[in-house]
Amino acid sequence: MHTKLTVPIAANDFDMAKEQIKAAKAAGAEILELRADYLENLTPILVKKIIAEIKNSAGRPLPLLVTCRDKQQGGIIGYPDRLRVDVLTAALKAGADFIDFEYEKFFSVENQERIKVALSQSSKAMLILSAHNFETKFDNIVKLHRHIGTLYSAAIPKLVYTANHINDCFDAFDLLHSTGGERIVFCMGSAGLVSRIIAKKLNSFLTFASVDDKTATAPGQLTVEQFKKLYRYDSTNADTELYGVIGSPVAHSLSPAVHNVCFAEAKVNKLYLPLLVEGGKDEFDRFMDNILAREWLGFAGFSVTIPHKQNALDYVREKHGFIEPLAEKIGAANTILSGADGQLAAYNTDYAGALDAITSTLGISRSDLNGLSVAVVGAGGVARAIVAGLTDAGAKICIYNRTVKKGQKLADEFGCDFAPLGDLSRLDAKLVINATSIGMHPDIDATPIPHWCLKKDMTVFDTVYNPAETLLLKQAKEAGAKTIDGLSMFIGQAAAQFKLFTGKKPDTELMRKTVASYDLLW
Ligand code: NAP
Repeated sequence: MHTKLTVPIAANDFDMAKEQIKAAKAAGAEILELRADYLENLTPILVKKIIAEIKNSAGRPLPLLVTCRDKQQGGIIGYPDRLRVDVLTAALKAGADFIDFEYEKFFSVENQERIKVALSQSSKAMLILSAHNFETKFDNIVKLHRHIGTLYSAAIPKLVYTANHINDCFDAFDLLHSTGGERIVFCMGSAGLVSRIIAKKLNSFLTFASVDDKTATAPGQLTVEQFKKLYRYDSTNADTELYGVIGSPVAHSLSPAVHNVCFAEAKVNKLYLPLLVEGGKDEFDRFMDNILAREWLGFAGFSVTIPHKQNALDYVREKHGFIEPLAEKIGAANTILSGADGQLAAYNTDYAGALDAITSTLGISRSDLNGLSVAVVGAGGVARAIVAGLTDAGAKICIYNRTVKKGQKLADEFGCDFAPLGDLSRLDAKLVINATSIGMHPDIDATPIPHWCLKKDMTVFDTVYNPAETLLLKQAKEAGAKTIDGLSMFIGQAAAQFKLFTGKKPDTELMRKTVASYDLLW
């Protein structure tokens, strides 16, 4: 049996519940969870009425779970235990397939007897015994799981806790991996999001999704649409190979959308995840150690973004993995491959993405870059990757940067010229590249290069891709110059990663369309 996408009905009254039932069914829910603790003026009769509505509603009949959560375990209205048990037993009589009750409250002989009697009168219904920790990890999740099993062996244990860091999720993964039968295990919070997505690969009995952000019942809950369209829910199974973007923040990364749509198009059983790794080198190393210690998780490759590109290179070096020579020269990796034998390889596709964006727009090959005069504005991570790639191709570069020391250092390292930003007024290069964040949302009225410096015979490349058409590019077009946008570079680096992940060339037009369909101005 595969993991069921469960959508909570979290309504204050009957009419609101009716609307939510309709929306949840239309969205593609596989189980409905009636959260009775959201209902005002709660009575067993009201719950029975809503269950009758669910049973009689149009569309496929769906299994029904009824929960009346204790306030201390995240319930909304603090109803007394006696009423909560009345509601659950009434729900069983009305045909609920599952009821969820807090395992700690199941110690009470009265609660336990009443629930067991009601269950014995229902031929198929099952009890979920749940434990939540909204603060942090459980002290010993394995013991807790065993404990719930001994309390009532027919129960489905549900263990849900807040992950304060992605490294906290591994307790949940280990429990799912080491136990059989039906159990529900995942983590709450933004650091736990990944556990909700791979619950299906690891065969958790269910995972929760809301219809929209307004009806989410827990922190970090995704929508049904995100599960199905963005995270390939319908095609995920135990054999799905995992990939992801490691960074902080990653919530707005376009990479999951771009890679997953191309995985689907290439018909490969792969899933790409946002992997929020907060902290520095120690946290990054611990995350990678955790992944590599669990081959069964099936991670095969990673994109790496701010602030971990250097950590990624160092990690692969420390593990004696392969490092692409230009990635070594740049001092940063944005891609890691992890072979079946645990062998690691580090690459940098940022420079390749930039070079491909330049050569394809100008209709030239990389060898034509030899001797080309280029001005690079900026001396940060992106500038470094571009300078490394362009010097390797033989271009003649002048670096302009606000912080003179930093710009001069980069220029010395790669044998380039350096000039302060003020010298941009005498700009005389064939290719001009903005590798600063100037012009990026929300500062869209800013530009790093005064418009009078832009000339007709120039090509102007802005690495900023949010917005796709920056003020710099608008003014370059007005001056009659050719332009290259940051999206071309983003897609170029993603395409090179996709090739490393799959051995296949992606449909870059599909990548561009996918990016365009997202609201870039978050
Ligand atoms: P970074 O390492 O932080 O470097 C930022 C650079 O911008 C530095 O040279 C900095 O100068 C300069 N800068 C920032 N604000 C400035 C200002 N107000 N005035 C003058 N100079 C300023 O960042 P990065 O990783 O290189 O990323 C730079 C930009 O590249 C990002 O903002 C993003 O838009 C773009 N990007 C594009 C792609 C793509 O695929 N298209 C990928 C990644 C990044 P100082 O040295 O003086 O601080």
